[in-house]
Parts: sequence; structure tokens; C-alpha cells
Amino acid sequence: MLNGKTAVITGGLRGIGAAIAEKFASLGANIAIIDMNAADEFKSKLIEIYKIDAQVYCCDVSDTNSCKETVAKITEDFGGVDILVNNAGITRDNLILTMEEEDFDKVIDVNLKGCFNMIKACGRSFIRKKYGKIINIASISGLIGLPGQANYSASKAGIIGLTKAVAKELGGKNVCCNAIAPGFIATDMTKDLGSEEEFLKSIPLKRLGKPQDVAELAAFLASGASDYITGEVIRIDGGLAM
Ligand code: NDP
Repeated sequence: MLNGKTAVITGGLRGIGAAIAEKFASLGANIAIIDMNAADEFKSKLIEIYKIDAQVYCCDVSDTNSCKETVAKITEDFGGVDILVNNAGITRDNLILTMEEEDFDKVIDVNLKGCFNMIKACGRSFIRKKYGKIINIASISGLIGLPGQANYSASKAGIIGLTKAVAKELGGKNVCCNAIAPGFIATDMTKDLGSEEEFLKSIPLKRLGKPQDVAELAAFLASGASDYITGEVIRIDGGLAM
């Protein structure tokens, strides 16, 4: 389904990003992972099991120049980019009155500016190919706002606006840009959130999501099956935010 495509996945060494990388590899895509470190173990596993090409690049997505240089290297290594998954994200939770300015800025820089940096860096490749799929990982926090997450909610709401603007700008070049808004997914990011019981009460499907649930949706948005969908935000939250 993704045979011969090159997918760039930010924050692809752990959690949701790793599940997306593995799913795309299983569908035949070559995988360029961008992460804060460049551990080789996961890449070797993808190459060995799925017989695709994979590489890990060390890059902080909030660093504009580093994104430009890394995407130039990926283009050299893989011959271009077809799919971009902006997945790298962080939290620095606190109530608004006690939130440090530094924590607000950091979350906006990584979560929102990181998407901007990567879309800009990959844009030319998409336009040259007259093809592209951009998938931005937002959050229900950006749709409904969550207490203790003013910085994170703002960054994810920003991603939703960015998604729609880019969908309108690049639609004429056959580039689709969509966002996924996950609810609570069982990863390192949510492991300290407290008792699962509390969350389950508000989730109609009565379970946390798995990274693989998000990966299935990302695979749909990366594939030809979604070629007429752009500027959309799809919740994947067990019904939590409806
Ligand atoms: P994890 O914390 O498990 O993984 C995040 C990954 O992003 C890590 O590999 C991390 O690298 C990498 N990363 C962090 N900062 C940067 C950076 N500046 N540049 C490059 N890579 C970076 O998170 P999840 O898998 O849970 O989340 C993935 C995405 O999904 C995020 O955008 C998150 O906001 C979103 N999301 C998650 C939800 C959840 O419940 N888990 C719910 C809704 C949205 P390192 O290992 O070095 O830290």
C-alpha cells in the first residue's frame, strides 16, 4: 500500500511515532526517523523484518536550520519525501498561574514550530513530485482544552490551524494535509497521569488507546485510500471528546 514511498516520521523512536514507523514499514514504505538521538536498534529491526530502507537522523525539530539540513540529507539518501508525519511532541504541564514562561515557549517551539519547520523543509520535495501527504499529530487537548495544559493545548490548537492553512495552500499541488487528534494513548507521555480508572470513566470505549490504534489511522491518511481528504482533523479517543 505504501510501496516505494519515503516517509519521514518525527519522534519516531518511541511511543506513537515508533508504532507509525513500524506500520508504514510493514506496508512497504522506506522510513526516515527524526529523533533527539540516533539509536540504531529500531532501524535495524525495521530493515530486517520488513526489508525496507530505514535511517535515523538526530535532529531537534524546534531547530529550523537543523530541520533544513536533515531533510536535505534525507532527500539525498532517499531521493525525496512523499509522506511527513509530524509526531514529535512534549508536555510541560502546570496550571496557568504557575506555568513558567520557559515551559510555555518550549512546548510551543517543539510541538508547533517543529511542525512548521518540517513542513517548510519538506515542502519543495512535495511540490517537485506533485504529491505529498502531511499528517500532523495534534491532540484532543487542542480541541477541547485540558486544565494544566495551557501551553500544550495552545500548541495543539495551533497545529489544527496550521493543518487547515497548509491544506488550502498546497491542495493545488496534490498535497494533502490532515491532523490526528488522539485522546489518551498508553505511552511514556501518559504513564504518570495518575490512576487509569479516572480516565476510563470518561472514555465510552473504556480503555486507553494503543499506539497501534493511531498508527492504523496514520496509515489510512498516508495511503491512496484518503486521496480526497484534506484539512481534516480526526479524533481517535475512544469517544472521549465527542
Ligand atoms: P513519547 O514521549 O512517548 O515520544 C515522543 C517522541 O518524540 C520521543 O521519541 C522523543 O524523543 C521525540 N521528541 C521529543 N522532542 C523532540 C524534538 N524536539 N525533536 C525531535 N524529536 C523529539 O510521546 P507519544 O508517543 O505519547 O506522543 C507522540 C505525539 O502524540 C506527540 O506529539 C504527543 O503530543 C501526541 N499525543 C500523545 C497522546 C498520548 O496520550 N500519548 C495524546 C495526544 C497526542 P526522546 O526519546 O529523545 O525524548
